[in-house]
Amino acid sequence: MTQMTAYEEAIRAKVCAHCIDRTGRGICGTQQWEDCALNRFMPQIIGIVNAVKSDSLHDYVHALRSEICVSCRDNQDGDCGLRSSLECGLDRYFPLVVEAIEEVNMQAAA
Ligand code: SF4
Ligand code: SF4
Repeated sequence: MTQMTAYEEAIRAKVCAHCIDRTGRGICGTQQWEDCALNRFMPQIIGIVNAVKSDSLHDYVHALRSEICVSCRDNQDGDCGLRSSLECGLDRYFPLVVEAIEEVNMQAAA
C-alpha cells in the first residue's frame, strides 16, 4: 500500500465511516463526490497536516484556513457559510482527520 493510500484509508475509516452525511451503507451521502471539501482537497490536506508538526490543534486549523479554505469555492472573503452551518465535513471532522494522519505516521515509525 502506498503511503497516500494508507492516509486516505485511515481518514475514510476514522472520519467518513462516522460522518453524519454518509448513507446507512457507509457510502458518502453527499450528492456528488466533489460536494465535500475532504474529497476535493485530500492530497493537500495530507500535505498540510504532515508539514505542521505541532502539539496544538490551533496550528493545524490555521494551516487549513490559510492553505485550503483560501482556495475553496465556498470561501467568501474569509467567511464560509458551510463552515458556519457545520455543513463542511472537512471542517467538522478536522481534528479526527489530523488524528488519522498522525496515527498512520506513528505506525510507520514503529
Ligand atoms: S466526511 Fe465528506 S467525504 Fe467523508 S462521508 Fe462525510 S461528506 Fe462524505
Ligand atoms: S470550511 Fe468552508 S472554505 Fe474551508 S474547506 Fe470547508 S467549505 Fe471550504
